Amino acid sequence: MPVYCMIVLMEQLLICVTLAVLGLCMGSFAGATVWRLRARQLVEDKAAGEKVDSKELKKLLPLTKTTLTSDRSRCLHCEHTLAWYDLLPLASWLSTGGKCRYCHKKIGWFEPAMELGVAALFVSLYLLWPLGMSSIYEITQFVLWLIAGVLLAILFAYDLKWYLLPNYIVFPLIGIGTLFAVLAVIGTSDMTTTLLNILFSGIILSGIYFILWLISKGQWIGFGDVKLGLGLALLLADWKLAFIALFAANLIGCLIVIPGMVAKKIDRKTRVPFGPLLIAGTVLAMLVGRYIIDWYFISFI
Ligand SMILES: [Zn+2]
Repeated sequence: MPVYCMIVLMEQLLICVTLAVLGLCMGSFAGATVWRLRARQLVEDKAAGEKVDSKELKKLLPLTKTTLTSDRSRCLHCEHTLAWYDLLPLASWLSTGGKCRYCHKKIGWFEPAMELGVAALFVSLYLLWPLGMSSIYEITQFVLWLIAGVLLAILFAYDLKWYLLPNYIVFPLIGIGTLFAVLAVIGTSDMTTTLLNILFSGIILSGIYFILWLISKGQWIGFGDVKLGLGLALLLADWKLAFIALFAANLIGCLIVIPGMVAKKIDRKTRVPFGPLLIAGTVLAMLVGRYIIDWYFISFI
């Protein structure tokens, strides 16, 4: 192998390892944020006079006494303050066999799954990034997607667990999406087409849900999905990708619901959260959508 190729390969490997480590750390942050947001929500719900699970509130209450970023994390079972070596993503979990070092209660799969998930997303985004990295616009768009990836991981987990998409995360996601879309408009030579593209993307991923929400008065679909859809549409900024995202979300939904119905684990009354499906569809569309579109146009048109 020529020396030049070796250098390029080493450089790529170095970037992937760096992104994987960064992803593990951001996944750890995302996992901790999910619990803190839940604690905050329970306190707010209780203050508003809603019925909350008092056992859950008691367990999560210590998390509300600290701010989102400045404190040291604690074990949810024994409340022991965790040392720096307990907070190493994945490594700490593996070194104790998934248990708390102090009370030996099982920590569960949630934290390592978040860490591995975000790390895998970061590396995949780099390896499959469809927009190029040649201009400052494109590199900024890549960084925006990394940030969005962390927010998406939080929303994915939160909606899956509690059927809710907290505004604390959805609004920043819409903000990141807006920046991404603005860069797409600035970086193009054909602004009108790009603007229309973003508009149709919004109609597909958010507008349809908005109409469903309006017709059913919030019965079929939550307004959280409408807002999430807007953020996702801006992050794709392309109607074809938005269409692929919607299609993939429904396909994944069917692949989960139909076997569940056959096994009688899911019936008509089971609530299926749309958020995680839409997020999975959007990530898939971003990673492989453009390759699918290229293949389709070469093969059929
Ligand atoms: Zn513990």
